Amino acid sequence: MFNNDLEVTLHKASADQLKPKPDQSNLGFGQFFTDHMFTMRWNRQEGWHDAAIEPYQAFALDPAAMVFHYGQAIFEGMKAYRGPDNQIFLFRPMDNFIRMNESAQRMCMPRFPLDRVLQALRALVYLDQDWVPRTPGATLYIRPTMIATEPALGLRAAENYLFFIICCPVGAYYSEGFAPTTIYVEGDYVRSVPGGVGNAKTSGNYAASLKAQSAAQAKGFTQVLWLDAVERRYIEEVGTSNIFFLIDGELITPPLEGSILPGITRDSVLQLARDWGYRVSERRLTIDEVIEAGEKGTLQESFGTGTAAVISPVGELFYQDERIRINNGTAGELSTRLFEELQAIQFGTREDPHKWRVRV
Ligand code: PMP
Repeated sequence: MFNNDLEVTLHKASADQLKPKPDQSNLGFGQFFTDHMFTMRWNRQEGWHDAAIEPYQAFALDPAAMVFHYGQAIFEGMKAYRGPDNQIFLFRPMDNFIRMNESAQRMCMPRFPLDRVLQALRALVYLDQDWVPRTPGATLYIRPTMIATEPALGLRAAENYLFFIICCPVGAYYSEGFAPTTIYVEGDYVRSVPGGVGNAKTSGNYAASLKAQSAAQAKGFTQVLWLDAVERRYIEEVGTSNIFFLIDGELITPPLEGSILPGITRDSVLQLARDWGYRVSERRLTIDEVIEAGEKGTLQESFGTGTAAVISPVGELFYQDERIRINNGTAGELSTRLFEELQAIQFGTREDPHKWRVRV
């Protein structure tokens, strides 16, 4: 249920609840959390209620809370960036919240009022703005989450939910340079199935991906390239990123047909590449087409796109005992240009023609 009158109360952390700030040169990813969080609750009678920005703290949950048993859990990932003159920006935050409401709908969870929650996020980041890193490339990662809290066993959609947003300062993804990845094309495990939940950002998708990811890492690869579940030929995603190939001047990415996550970086890359006059296609492509392009010498570049790394160039693909090197294992011209352009827009150092930035 939407509740557009949602009031957000503010409980500021007391001086003794404020945490020491971590060493900015060694932030890593997801290790430290800011002083405050946003929470709100949902039940059928009241809709969304008890919205608050409050000190970061643990939750008490009943062991029967339905999220523990039936996995109704969805989340998002976005970032806040410190720009010139200490202005703080979000990048396309409404798109993350719209996607989260779509995930909610797919998982039989309640949707939430977008404007109110975006306002609450801006207030939260404003309050914790000292936590937005100052080191180049470092950001504040933002994790909105929703879980089923009703204490009950028996499979059905829960009647109570908790929504929360936590934030953590994270280091620059490429602290050691814009490094290409080596990718294992996964022929056994699949990430999602037709009619399934591949286009929802729900926790079970990530749990289900761990086995293939750890097997690939044990073999020395950075990530897996997921193929479709039916024919095991069509390319879907790479790790937790969308995937692009530049073949003979055509920039290709798989279409949004339900099995892949509609990435916000993916959409931004499509728009920029179109602005720059590239021939851009959202179309199905098979691993065989990629291999053949590699053999013919028309496979110019490949890269993953996502909030964490922005652009992640693929240096090498490994498929059925065959190794395909891309652009001699180095980052290509388009990958590099996209990375620089997106980072500059996100950090507020370049024009923002698509109005993607939102000031906190
Ligand atoms: N695919 C998956 C499975 C993901 O988890 C993510 C990260 N949210 C992406 C793609 C990239 O999406 P975005 O560009 O919105 O971060």
